[in-house]
Amino acid sequence: MEIPKRFKGKVAIVTASTQGIGFSIAERLGLEGASVVISSRRQKNVDVAAEKLRAKGIDVFAVVCHVSNGQQRKDLIDKTVQKYGKIDVVVSNAAANPSVDSILQTQESVLDKLWEINVKASILLLKDAAPHMQKGSSVVIISSISGYHPPAAMAMYGVTKTALFGLTKALAAEMAPNTRVNCIAPGFVPTNFASFITNNAAMRKELEQQTLLRRLGTTEDMGAATAFLASDDASYITGETIVVSGGMPSRLIISLSWLLLYL
Ligand code: NAP
Repeated sequence: MEIPKRFKGKVAIVTASTQGIGFSIAERLGLEGASVVISSRRQKNVDVAAEKLRAKGIDVFAVVCHVSNGQQRKDLIDKTVQKYGKIDVVVSNAAANPSVDSILQTQESVLDKLWEINVKASILLLKDAAPHMQKGSSVVIISSISGYHPPAAMAMYGVTKTALFGLTKALAAEMAPNTRVNCIAPGFVPTNFASFITNNAAMRKELEQQTLLRRLGTTEDMGAATAFLASDDASYITGETIVVSGGMPSRLIISLSWLLLYL
């Protein structure tokens, strides 16, 4: 498939982008012509990922940034602006899921961490980035299908992802008309993050059965959808969430018992 060059001359920051979904988003934007600024917590991971992208001919700038570290967030934005003079795209992708406890059993420190990494860091990063984003710029926030129906084993994580749907709507209004703000809600994608689920053959099969396309997602699926939302092809779309889940149940769910009442 011929990849379009929708990001020629554009500068894109992708957080948490040294592996998994973030890496594939950076790769896709880069292959489409963007200068990509990748980051994550560990210098070694940042260096290795930057080399992989450079080997594909992508212009990469790599910065260490733990998204809940204020100084590192500021460095990410300042260094990008020093190098490229502007920011066209920000993809906020970092998240943590440190607990499998039910919500009422979750320790306060874990609740704080979930809020801090999954929601607050996106807000503070965009607060630093916004003054450098001009007309035609774009933000994509990576949420999750778990935001629609937080599953028991990752309920509070799911709730933070629900918050990102609201954040997308609110920021789309606040950053209009110059910057569009949209959201991707991935289904299940075999990455390190999801390995506790997708490495279990029975659970994986069950999840595949829940999709209409009978497979889990790939990181490249997420890269392609993010690139669409960030590009001018989506220039009349803002405040929206695209579910990229192979047709897993998401927004419109009619439970069977409810349906039976009307049959
Ligand atoms: P992943 O493959 O485990 O990759 C995580 C990346 O984030 C790594 O590059 C890691 O590098 C970096 N990272 C972790 N914590 C960070 C932090 N606090 N600050 C900065 N970078 C950090 O994860 P993934 O599956 O691609 O997940 C990416 C996003 O997709 C998350 O928002 C997740 O909620 C969402 N999502 C994933 C799935 C799925 O099934 N995989 C489904 C729905 C939504 P370092 O270790 O060097 O920091």
